[in-house]
Amino acid sequence: MYAFGNGRADGSAAMRDILGGKGAGLAEMANLGLPVPPGFTLSARLCITYLEQGTFPDELREEVDRHLKQLERATKKKFGDARNPLLVSVRSGAAVSMPGMMETILNLGLNDDTVDGLIAGSENPRFAYDSYRRFVQMYGDVVFDLGKEPFEEVLAEAKRRRKVKRDIDLPVDDLKAVVDEFKAIIQSRTDLPFPDDPQRQLWGAIEAVFQSWRTRRALDYRRVHGIPDDMGTAVNVVAMVYGNMGDDCGTGVAFTRDCSSGERVLNGDVLTNAQGEDVVSGARTPVPIARLKRGKVAKLGKIYRDLERLAQKLERHFKDVQDIEFTFERGKLYMLQTRRAQRTGIAAVRVAVEMAAEGLISQDEAVQRVPPQDLDQLFHPMVDPRASVTVLAKGLPASPGAATGEVVFDADEAEALKKKGRDVILVRPETSPEDFHGIVAARAVLTARGGMTSHAAVVARGMGKTCVVGAKDLDVDPAAGRFRANGRAVKRGQVITVDGTTGRVILGAAKLVLPKVGAHFAKLMGWADERRRLRVRANADTPADARRAREFGAEGVGLCRTEHMFFEGDRITAMREMIVAADEAGRRRALAKLLPMQRDDFEGIFEAMAGLPVTIRLLDPPLHEFLPHTREEIAALAKGLKIPAAQLERTVDGLREANPMLGHRGCRLGVTYPEITEMQARAIFEAAGRVAGRGKKVTVEVMVPLVAHVEEFRRQAEIIRRVAQEVFHGEGRAVPYLVGTMIEVPRAALTADDIAKEAEFFSFGTNDLTQMTFGLSRDDAGRFLPLYVERGILAEDPFQVLDQAGVGKLIELAVRLGRGARHDLKIGICGEHGGEPSSVKFCHHVGMNYVSCSPFRVAIARLAAAQAALEEAGVVSRTRATV
Ligand code: ADP
Ligand code: MG
Ligand code: MG
Repeated sequence: MYAFGNGRADGSAAMRDILGGKGAGLAEMANLGLPVPPGFTLSARLCITYLEQGTFPDELREEVDRHLKQLERATKKKFGDARNPLLVSVRSGAAVSMPGMMETILNLGLNDDTVDGLIAGSENPRFAYDSYRRFVQMYGDVVFDLGKEPFEEVLAEAKRRRKVKRDIDLPVDDLKAVVDEFKAIIQSRTDLPFPDDPQRQLWGAIEAVFQSWRTRRALDYRRVHGIPDDMGTAVNVVAMVYGNMGDDCGTGVAFTRDCSSGERVLNGDVLTNAQGEDVVSGARTPVPIARLKRGKVAKLGKIYRDLERLAQKLERHFKDVQDIEFTFERGKLYMLQTRRAQRTGIAAVRVAVEMAAEGLISQDEAVQRVPPQDLDQLFHPMVDPRASVTVLAKGLPASPGAATGEVVFDADEAEALKKKGRDVILVRPETSPEDFHGIVAARAVLTARGGMTSHAAVVARGMGKTCVVGAKDLDVDPAAGRFRANGRAVKRGQVITVDGTTGRVILGAAKLVLPKVGAHFAKLMGWADERRRLRVRANADTPADARRAREFGAEGVGLCRTEHMFFEGDRITAMREMIVAADEAGRRRALAKLLPMQRDDFEGIFEAMAGLPVTIRLLDPPLHEFLPHTREEIAALAKGLKIPAAQLERTVDGLREANPMLGHRGCRLGVTYPEITEMQARAIFEAAGRVAGRGKKVTVEVMVPLVAHVEEFRRQAEIIRRVAQEVFHGEGRAVPYLVGTMIEVPRAALTADDIAKEAEFFSFGTNDLTQMTFGLSRDDAGRFLPLYVERGILAEDPFQVLDQAGVGKLIELAVRLGRGARHDLKIGICGEHGGEPSSVKFCHHVGMNYVSCSPFRVAIARLAAAQAALEEAGVVSRTRATV
């Protein structure tokens, strides 16, 4: 156990594994001399011990007693005393911030005796009974596990009777009656009396916090965020300070910078005459803290200035944006929590760049600060500024981006529809931790109540999910399955658009466009590019893709899938003609029709990528993917080809394979039909010649897919090189080119030395390599793979995050063998993993030359590559102790 308060603490920010984030932050603030109410922290280790053994170690009771005594001395109050009672909060706090996941109990120590002491001390009976009411309510919810509803109903009824809107307007006698009613509810529902003894209250609360580590929403949160289950939560017992004593008291949340935009401005929400969760729960709508500056109560201006000064101090100390919880009691400010603030990707970039400019952190740190994945948000769609839209209501822009979907009012329903592949918008009066899985499933979250720091806002922002909160004009009625807004009604299932950048709620599906990224982003990417060694290319199948990739900073095309070119318009007809041709002559006739189309596509791509390398993969998928399947389609094609439908049906039948993924595809097509390879090679080199003829630099890399044996590659390469010579000879001009291979079959990786003797480059096709290494088909994996991840058999989906231990080992081997046979072998990756940060870092460490990913992930890969280089160089961020 670790005490804190009065300018000192046993622990520090470096001990978050033991103290949890909250405890570590309280200790560090106490050490810095900030005004923190005194208290003590029970280690997170105790949580795991308690959960495993079901009891506390014997010495713990004495330890808690000793610390309570210390707290009594520090506060000059006594726990359980009827004249001058010490009240405490019992607060959970794990090492990793889990907003709203765990439970907190305030005003613990109150009973019918001590409440009199609170009245005597404050001369404010309403405050005393408000505190008592809150305590019994939270205790009933958390410790007796009765949830919030039964208590909220009683409270709502009390307010209705008195015709008042807010709890704070209830007279003392009513509050007293509410407390009694709460206790009666507990007694009748659990058959247990409410504990009056403060000692029993305390131990019950400590146990409840420890047990809350295993609630469904805590488990869900940890799963989504990849937090291990064996960390446990610490418990903080903190002397109460009171924000509910009057109008010169209050509570709030502040951010040292704007966590949506990144702008350097203190901001947040505050409520006067309020306590604890009032601000985040959305029960009352808080006001911006700037309001304190020019409020009616003179003392509040001082609170604002104090807050500004302490916020600065914290930010300078932690060198990061802080998310602060504070309470002020009769004009005195107390800090109750500080932690690293969650932020949007846009804010993360701006903050990192500006903090480097302010000299708070180095450029290296700025590059390391931004989670690469968060850059994704910079490319989130926004509502087209030129589109005319019907705005239903406006709320607070809690998390940027825009999303369209069907309205649902229930988290379970959101989850169920999402599973069916539908886009949903979760609409709630306000959200609570019970809604977490619904937020995960939804494209966007919309609430009628709550401020920028409400549960919905914080959780959505952390996930980079579009969110609008506090849309006051919204009247949400989940039971009736509809909401009303400014005279319109929107029913469950109707489509709306939520614009988290402006706060607008729009009827129907608004036109969405991609935002323009700003100067901060350009600066950060510049710093990243200076530091990375790995090159970043993009996968692009069309000239438009290639142009976009270049705008995103791609340094070439790492994968151009030629088969995509065969699906459009009349091409598919020529393609089908080629496939069903009875002999080589028939095939060549059809291929001759395809040649100019392919050539034009390649020409456009070479043009867009002039000066940069372009890797073109030869035809890869099983042929039957191009064929018609329904009777009608077959009949239509037969008519076009002037052959009997029955004959075509037999041909299509004959092409059916038991296991197409392992069947007649990849270079096996080129081996059986060399004329396909010939045509593609000719299209490539003719296109290259044309672009080169216009004075542009073309660097061609022709890639043979699905090679398992060097002999397959040798024969395909021979054709490609022969056609190149023919074309160059005919045109009297050569272009530089390489012939290489995909490494996507385990045998290719195992014999990479043989293959590298023939191939001039390798590109790891990690989608197929993962399938074949695991021996599972990605298309069929939906039935079991999610379960594997859920049950922890696999830490992650290996199709998203490269399996470094297995597939990665094959890659390492192939790199080593390949470079052993050809020291300047160019090596890259072109699977999905090429844009996933941890996989990109792996590619850096095994010594690849480049990664290739979808254009939208190029920036992510560039940043991840820079971080990998910095990690390798041993540049470690100074700010690790941030809580
Ligand atoms: P959470 O993890 O949900 O933020 P906290 O433990 O931080 O829970 O408690 C929530 C709020 O309760 C705090 O922001 C603060 O307003 C209030 N609170 C907690 N402890 C105290 C205390 N000792 N005195 C006054 N208010 C407190
Ligand atoms: Mg809480
Ligand atoms: Mg808190």
